[in-house]
Formats: sequence, C-alpha cells, structure tokens
Amino acid sequence: MTEEEDYYDILGVDRDAPKEEIKKAYRKKAKKYHPDKNPDNTEEAREKFKKISEAYEVLADDEKRKRYDRYGKRGVKGEFGEGGFEWSDFSHQDDLEDIFSEFFGGSRRSGGFDDIFNSFFGGRRRRDSGRRKRGRDLRMSMEVGLKELRDEAEKTVRINRKARCEECGGSGSRSETKRTCPKCDGSGEVKRAQRRGFQQLVTITSCDRCNGSGEIVEDPCPECSGTGRVEKRETITIDVPPGAKDGDRLRVKGKGEAGENGAPSGDLYIILRVKREEDFERKGDDVMTEAQVTMTEAALGADIEVPTLDGKAKMKVPEGIQPDEILRLPNKGLKRKRGDGYGDQLVKIKVRIPEDINSKQKDLLKEFKKIEKKKNRSWFDKIRGK
Ligand SMILES: [Zn+2]
Ligand SMILES: [Zn+2]
Repeated sequence: MTEEEDYYDILGVDRDAPKEEIKKAYRKKAKKYHPDKNPDNTEEAREKFKKISEAYEVLADDEKRKRYDRYGKRGVKGEFGEGGFEWSDFSHQDDLEDIFSEFFGGSRRSGGFDDIFNSFFGGRRRRDSGRRKRGRDLRMSMEVGLKELRDEAEKTVRINRKARCEECGGSGSRSETKRTCPKCDGSGEVKRAQRRGFQQLVTITSCDRCNGSGEIVEDPCPECSGTGRVEKRETITIDVPPGAKDGDRLRVKGKGEAGENGAPSGDLYIILRVKREEDFERKGDDVMTEAQVTMTEAALGADIEVPTLDGKAKMKVPEGIQPDEILRLPNKGLKRKRGDGYGDQLVKIKVRIPEDINSKQKDLLKEFKKIEKKKNRSWFDKIRGK
C-alpha cells in the first residue's frame, strides 16, 4: 500500500464519519470485492479486499482511529507485523462473518466464512500477532449491586496500566530511523540447536535484544525511553450486561498492558462480584422479597408499598391472603437474558400476629371468635346433613 492512500479515502467516508457509517461503507465495499463477484480477477479483488479491511481495522477502533488521525500510519504501524497489515491482524471477524453469512444465506458450512479465511485468504484465520509479544492481560474484580443489574449498567474502573506511549505512537523511536537488530538480523527470532543423543532439537524463541521486533531504536523517544510504553492511570468505562451473574468475566479488548515497541496490547478482564442487596433474593431473572401485613390486612385486603429494584411500588393484597402466599409484581425483576422485558418480583406475604393488644381490641377479637365458631359449626353441621 502506498503511503498517500488514506484510510478514509479507501473506504470513501469523511474524516468525521461516525462509526456506523464506517461500518456501512466497509460492508458495501466488502460485498463489491467479494471473490464470487469477481471470478475474472480474484487476485485484484483479493488485494482490494485486504486494503479496505486494513482501513476498517483501524477506523472501526476508536483508539486506533485516534492514533491514526494524529500520527497517520506511523501511529498504527505497531498494530501490524513487519510487512504491514495481514489477515491475521484483522480483529473484526464478527463483522465479516455477518457480511458473509448474508451472502451465503446464513450457511457457514461450505463456501462460507470459514472457507473464505481458509482458502481465499490463505488459511490464517486465527489471530496471530506475529512473533512480537503481545502485552500482558490484566485482571481485576468489580463490585456491582443487584439494582444496577436490572438494566445495562455503565460502570467505570480506574486502573494503572502500561499504555502505549502517545509521543511516539508506541514505536519507541523519536524519529523514523531504526536499525536492524544485529542479534537476529531483523528476523525477530533466535534459533538455538541442541543435541540430544541422536536428535537435534531446534528451539525458536523471540529475540530478547529487540523483543521480537527485529529492529533496534536508534533515537529513543524521551517520553518512554524507547520502550513504547508509559505507566498510565486510566479510567475505563465498562458496560455491564443486564442480569450478569457473580463471577461473570467481562473482556475489555486492548485494555491490558501495551506490548513493547508497539506490539499489540493485551486485554483487561473484569470479574464481576455481585453485591447482595439486602432483602432481595435473586431467582434467575426474577427477584424475591418479603412483605409484612397485619392480621386484619390479611383478612380484609390492603394496599401496601413494597421496595423494588426500581424504587417503591404499590401493590394490592387481596382479602383473605394466607401466610407465605406469593404475589407477583410483573416486570420488576431483572432484564431478561433471553427475550424482551423484565422478570417479575415475587412478594412473599408474612402475616404479623399482634403481640400486644389493648382491652378493646381483645373484646372485639373475642366477639369475632364467637361469630367464627358459630360460622364454623354451622358449616360443620351442613356437611353432616343436620
Ligand atoms: Zn515514546
Ligand atoms: Zn532481534
């Protein structure tokens, strides 16, 4: 790819085009350069396809796009290997999958997506960032409350990470000049042969002198002393999916440590710790709570107020409700994992028997008891046919 070809021009979008538009443009071009549509010049189509995919790889990623806008191709060079963009660098495989499955009517079996990657693009579907060591993954746990899980929650975490140096775009070099590594002759690999009896064992390891990049920085960037990374405290926004469970692991791509000398970043893994919300018990998408009513409320029915994940709600208790009977408040649970809408809140009714009553209440209850007995007796007599 020649230097003057601009990623925005390749996709035919404006420099301030929103992400959606970039995706649309890529979809359109991907269909155009699809091999099946270009049986006479597959080679050319293949090149074009690769080109638009390189542009998309950068522009569809906020962080890469920012670096590209600021430094041009130099800012994203570290994302790709020595020879520039390869299919193995392409990380938006899901998008391609969508596009291709549309082509092949949803079939991924034959002639579909896997075949594209395996034959047309040279069988390098797996993401392989070359010899260069990708940055370390980071792991941390994050607490979320049950209330926050009712809907999608946006949470922020602060982490200290080795981030890509913005001064040099991660290359570690103040200028473009780099020297070929003398230890590995620019291959980034060191071979070591060992004799083991009759066998010769050859191990290939990443060159430690240049960290597998094959180049040595001549003029180190003063900001990062040539490593391409700087210690940074960062605030990261995380979308917690609704209904997430304790122990769920969320992956934030590229927010682990940056690799050395512009090698790709690792990922950040967030382990969710769901805090127990007092009085709420989780039952899948539903939640269970208890509500107390008095003896007379249970007998006569009542309008009560109960706490929900979504504030307080009014609820009607029907007359004659029994202890431990469960009432259902629709849509007050967690957002459903499958399908639309919310789970319910199950409210278990606890009937409170008065412990301390005054003489008037006592008299009334005695009165009540008399009627109750009579009523019971007459009912009893009825079944005995009297
Ligand atoms: Zn730097
Ligand atoms: Zn080397």
